[in-house]
Amino acid sequence: MNKINVLKQHEALRIGAMLKFSTLDYPGKISSVIFCQGCPNRCVYCHNPDFIDISRPGQISFDDVLDFLKSRTELLDAVVFSGGEPLIQSDLVDAILQIKQLGYLVGIHTSGVLTDRFVDILNYVDWVGFDIKTEFDKYHKITRLANSGESAKTSLLALLNSKVDFELRTTVDSRYIEDQDLINIAKFLRENGVKKWILQECILRDSGINLKVPLPSNETILKISQYVSVDLRKE
Ligand code: SF4
Repeated sequence: MNKINVLKQHEALRIGAMLKFSTLDYPGKISSVIFCQGCPNRCVYCHNPDFIDISRPGQISFDDVLDFLKSRTELLDAVVFSGGEPLIQSDLVDAILQIKQLGYLVGIHTSGVLTDRFVDILNYVDWVGFDIKTEFDKYHKITRLANSGESAKTSLLALLNSKVDFELRTTVDSRYIEDQDLINIAKFLRENGVKKWILQECILRDSGINLKVPLPSNETILKISQYVSVDLRKE
């Protein structure tokens, strides 16, 4: 099992890459996406493996990011921290505050497994894209990180009890997630007042070839829809 390793206090934001314009990463807004370096998870289908290694040096300085954002305030609405797992960055709050001073909305894509940091960040962000990996007691099958399900569940409940806007999504890797797991998650979401859940197609990238893992059957989607409204997201 992987051990959680976070950046120490006041270490500069480590940025692996930046997407300057996106219409997909913050619902209804034009955003820039900052991909933070480092992730405590080791997801079986990881779509951003270059950003996992926390020891890899940053590729772009935060000062350069700020200069870009200062020059695009008329064109962009929001900035999204993605990764990797952005909560691993110790200077994230400071970075968010600087970006908000420029007038941007700020969002975060997260797995929520760093609970203390997640609960704190809810005070600063406008929107959260929260990845539910699978049923909470089966998380290790996907994340290969001990106790990650317990942490993610605590974070998700904190999000649902906050006033922060959010989107909940699950990458459906049917090699590890059974249809009944999805139905159980849907029940949990319904019990906690959630109305909408996004199921994302899982794409495995191997030696330049993209392999699509099949989405659940229509029958399963119908069962899930008894609890929450489902959006299927295909690549
Ligand atoms: S949380 Fe995201 S970046 Fe981290 S291992 Fe999982 S898929 Fe990869």
